Amino acid sequence: MSVVKKPLSTDKGDFYHINAILSEEDQDLLFRVRAFMEDEVAPIINQYWIREEFPHQIIPGLAALNIAGLAYHGYACPGKSTLLDGMMAREMARVDSSIATFMGVHSGLAMGSIYLCGSEEQKQQWLPSMRRFEKIGAFGLTEPEVGSGASGGLMTIARREGNTWILNGQKKWIGNATFSDVTVIWARDVEDNQVKGFLVEKGTPGFRPEKMKDKIALRVVQNALITMEDCRVPEANRLQRANSFKDTAAVLRMTRAGVAWEAVGCARGAYELALKYAQERQQFGRPIGRFQLVQDLLVRMLGNITASECMVMRLSQMQDAGIMSDEHASLAKAFCTVRMRETVGYARELLAGNGILLDHHVGRFVADAEAIYSYEGTREMNSLIVGRAITGFSAFV
Ligand SMILES: Cc1cc2nc3c(=O)[nH]c(=O)nc-3n(C[C@H](O)[C@H](O)[C@H](O)COP(=O)(O)OP(=O)(O)OC[C@H]3O[C@@H](n4cnc5c(N)ncnc54)[C@H](O)[C@@H]3O)c2cc1C
Repeated sequence: MSVVKKPLSTDKGDFYHINAILSEEDQDLLFRVRAFMEDEVAPIINQYWIREEFPHQIIPGLAALNIAGLAYHGYACPGKSTLLDGMMAREMARVDSSIATFMGVHSGLAMGSIYLCGSEEQKQQWLPSMRRFEKIGAFGLTEPEVGSGASGGLMTIARREGNTWILNGQKKWIGNATFSDVTVIWARDVEDNQVKGFLVEKGTPGFRPEKMKDKIALRVVQNALITMEDCRVPEANRLQRANSFKDTAAVLRMTRAGVAWEAVGCARGAYELALKYAQERQQFGRPIGRFQLVQDLLVRMLGNITASECMVMRLSQMQDAGIMSDEHASLAKAFCTVRMRETVGYARELLAGNGILLDHHVGRFVADAEAIYSYEGTREMNSLIVGRAITGFSAFV
């Protein structure tokens, strides 16, 4: 893998030199992630996007980067800051949001559930092999009839019989789950009505993931509709420290900043492509970047990206300091995804016709942004969380 050594702070999308706040060692990691994404992912990703397939051959390369569980301490994980973890998500999404999402699900949601809610034994069993990508994780919360309202009650149920739990129900949209080795399933215990987490291993009888086809966004991410019919899971695979939806919410709180960083990366990738296009594409005998209205589009994009990145940088610093609350993460997720959606739209506009051709990549960013906009809390849900915090009134129902 070739690594070009140049300061990341000279990036065209890093107008305020935000990368410069990192140590050289951490910047070096971002270089390696960037080089990997540009060399190994960018050349092949459109074909996989068209075919709705995941490029499994990139997994050894991802493992070599040593980035799974980047901000977790112990269990052979690197123990870096969540700020670096976020910037890593940004680097991935700058080239492709599907691969960033694959990582967000594996390293954030799945490993994060075990890291926060697993017993010591469960962490020892799963986290080192997941860090090495020998085992791939998925996270199953959303259901066909329960999306935003997950905190209000899941329909997937768990019934205990001695040392075995029996799961019944369906999960929808579960990323990586067509091939994951372990899927964290959140289900309601019929005994006490509380939500509990279960580590369901690949091939467990009664556990049937089916690939969801014909998506118009994040087509490389393998989302599954999972049906569980009398799926038996040993008590040893119940997440021992997950006792209610509050524990599920703690996992989502930990990962939500990562989604805001993905939004920044997606916007930045589209902006950098648009800027290059503006400098090269000629109309009326000159580069279109010389036209005032084209410059206006570029400046709007850069403003969106810079504002979002400053916000999410501070959010990650607060997370690292242990002072980030739900509403802080929700404000960034809502704001950055709105700005991302606008930015990729401007990039598409700047490329005009070529903006809808996959070959020019920007069209893929526009489509993929739609999924980032809605997953891990829609704009409406995140607004309600912030609204409750600032007014003191809950407007959820
Ligand atoms: C590509 C992709 C990947 C995903 N990956 C995963 C995954 O790996 N694991 C997982 O568990 N889930 C996953 N999800 C699910 C995702 O988190 C949900 O799509 C999201 O939570 C929204 O739920 P919903 O789609 O059912 O929409 P709904 O909840 O049905 O919402 C529909 C609309 O109603 C609005 N709405 C709902 N309630 C209110 C309210 N009280 N007030 C105002 N407006 C409201 C919403 O904002 C939205 O606009 C994924 C989704 C996508 C698209």
